[in-house]
Amino acid sequence: MNYDYLIVGAGLFGSVCAYELNKRGKKCKVIDRRDHIAGNIYTEKVNGIEVHQYGAHIFHTSDKEVWDYVGKFAEFNNYINSPVAKYHDELYNLPFNMNTFSKMWGITTPAEAREVIDAQVARAKAERGITEPKNLEEQALSLGGQDIYEKLIKGYTEKQWGRDCTELPAFIIKRLPFRFVYDNNYFNDRYQGIPIGGYTQIVRRMLEGIETELGRDFQKDVSEIPSMDHPGICVYEMDGDLFSNVIYTGMIDEFFHYEYGPLEYRSLRFETEALPDCDNYQGNAVVNYTAREVPYTRIIEHKHFEFGKDAVIGKPIHGTVITREYPAAWERGMEPYYPVNNDRNAALYAQYRALADEKPNVIFGGRLGMYRYFDMDKVIRAALDTVKGML
Ligand code: UDP
Repeated sequence: MNYDYLIVGAGLFGSVCAYELNKRGKKCKVIDRRDHIAGNIYTEKVNGIEVHQYGAHIFHTSDKEVWDYVGKFAEFNNYINSPVAKYHDELYNLPFNMNTFSKMWGITTPAEAREVIDAQVARAKAERGITEPKNLEEQALSLGGQDIYEKLIKGYTEKQWGRDCTELPAFIIKRLPFRFVYDNNYFNDRYQGIPIGGYTQIVRRMLEGIETELGRDFQKDVSEIPSMDHPGICVYEMDGDLFSNVIYTGMIDEFFHYEYGPLEYRSLRFETEALPDCDNYQGNAVVNYTAREVPYTRIIEHKHFEFGKDAVIGKPIHGTVITREYPAAWERGMEPYYPVNNDRNAALYAQYRALADEKPNVIFGGRLGMYRYFDMDKVIRAALDTVKGML
């Protein structure tokens, strides 16, 4: 049997590619080494609640085409992410906005908030001689001053990345908006929500009618053989079937057997707990723990992602499910979550990219294939563009 594409990884990137290629009459097979589809957006019902098995996934985008596209595979609720940060006994709204500033300094107007922040920023810059921020600490102090940095950024960031804020690049917190309005919406995007019934159905629908095999590992099960028709090019073989092209969404360094050494990742460990006797554990989907001493970075309470559900169906779900998220150093064999974007890894990735360029019929895509921190909408956009570019 000959196939046009072997798609390695049944996550969002692979599944969008599979759906688009299948639609255009290409013969595809999808494999995944996990025992389920949907990659890290996998959700599963536990005690009637959709549990995000690989951490909170909140869909947000300003790309209308992507929003309409994803809407074909699931109906989205009107969840708006409004996390709360807990620092010792103090609770603050995120992202940094008038609610946060008012709680922190007892002020009420944007002008008062600006005055406090400007004074703290000026003091921090003068004390440390900051002109152009060189690292995350300097960036945070230049944006919000000492109080916000100490209470809401430093501990959380150092736990998440496993290193001092002075050793981290400034761009990481450029994701965090500062707002001088009373608005707790974490994202600035035009569209936002959580699919009613979970994320897994999106991928299941994309893969409908496409051969998908779980528990299959590219490294172990697939071999590369020189093409008879195209010198210098390889085709891929699995179980006697031949594939002319591969879309690979695993780790690019693993594809090349770590030839230049491993790229670095940060990993996460999730501790999920069902609490049958508690109906509402923390009153919010996401609570960040910003103190250094608390070993986890956040607790998510999954039922609150299903915004308005109790009211809609008229009968509340009893019990709740929470997940504590512990950041961890990544070692081989663990799940890689966040690429570590520093100069060393950028140079290493460029070396792997050069190897990839020598394989015109292998497309590397997604967070691990492109070694890039991707939000879900960007993954969909990249997959759609990739397919367009290929055909
Ligand atoms: N961050 C922080 N305090 C918080 C939440 C986030 O300092 O309470 C910083 C931290 O450096 C983190 C970055 O903002 O790495 C991005 O966080 P976000 O929650 O947006 O990223 P996620 O992990 O959800 O992708």
